[in-house]
Amino acid sequence: MSTSGVVHVRCATCGAQSEQVAIRSASAFDEPDLDFRPSEMLRSTMGMWLMRCPHCGYVVDDIHKRPRLRRRELWALYERADDALPELAHMFHQRALHCERIRDKSGAIRAYLCAAWVCDDAGDNMGAKRMRTACVMLVKRRMKRCGRRKWRLCTQLLADLLRRTGNIQALRAMNTDDRRLDFATRELLVFQKALAEKDDFAAHCRDEIDLESYDDFFEKKTSVAHDPSLALAECLKQAVLIDDDIRAKALDALDELRPREMNRPYHEYDGVLLLHRGLPIDEEYPFRTKELAQAANEEFLDMLESHVVSSSTLREKVTLQNEICMAMLYQIYTSPYLPVELKNYASAQKRLYVMCMDDLFTDDSSRIGFVEPQG
Ligand SMILES: [Zn+2]
Repeated sequence: MSTSGVVHVRCATCGAQSEQVAIRSASAFDEPDLDFRPSEMLRSTMGMWLMRCPHCGYVVDDIHKRPRLRRRELWALYERADDALPELAHMFHQRALHCERIRDKSGAIRAYLCAAWVCDDAGDNMGAKRMRTACVMLVKRRMKRCGRRKWRLCTQLLADLLRRTGNIQALRAMNTDDRRLDFATRELLVFQKALAEKDDFAAHCRDEIDLESYDDFFEKKTSVAHDPSLALAECLKQAVLIDDDIRAKALDALDELRPREMNRPYHEYDGVLLLHRGLPIDEEYPFRTKELAQAANEEFLDMLESHVVSSSTLREKVTLQNEICMAMLYQIYTSPYLPVELKNYASAQKRLYVMCMDDLFTDDSSRIGFVEPQG
């Protein structure tokens, strides 16, 4: 149950008295969300978490508390709050800016989160993203100076903020082997990474995973779940290798890790290589890259690019894997089917070159289009 009542409070900023609604009691019965947003009933009381003085506009959890800031400075700060946000979110943003100024990092983090939650409820996705992005900076700073327990909570929060703002690269980079992680934090981190790889940026609840660190009274569990980011990175590497069997296994694993549509370039690449099997690589026998060029994206091009070597590399040191990737990239970069936004990808057009390969046993020489490494 949550109960509330009307109270009369004198504003610490302007001295005027006003009626405010305050929560007397509220409980949360279930597990919170991954970003610690409380469950019902507490969740529905968010409108009462702040007071606003109707006379001067001072916003704080209790307007009887002093702002620890000059009035003029406070109003100037309030001016900077995002007025495109829903009204309650705007109030939380004002509070967040105030907390930031008086170096109350925890207060600011909390206020930004509240603002994001109000935006979530109102369907204001852009507003929610702005509030979470501001929160990320603060959480990172908070993590530099805090005890082990706080650090873990911040890690859990940061993982959710990064996923909810679509900041996948940064989430992938969070280290699941960090010795400071306890069972629950590591499990949460792995869970967040798996959600992100599945393109899931929605709110999730802590009760979706078993975070109990003890099986029974004596047996402490250790988190051994595989880090999906590491698994993904490994599968992506293998999915562009020229060994058919390794590639097939990697493709299956990739489809387990994330929606098949995201793996389309790798499936197309596989198809091109299988079709080309037994044929030489030269301009007479180009790879069939129409669908591949259409499906290409930066992630896939980067995987191929990792096999590019410079034209001055000793001929004996250039592997078939290098040649195939360089020739494939040449064809993709010169393909009319490459999406417009990738046309100038890493200034590919400037890096194209053609090489003549002499066949020692005949008078023939074949021409192959290659790319130079990125500068
Ligand atoms: Zn006031």
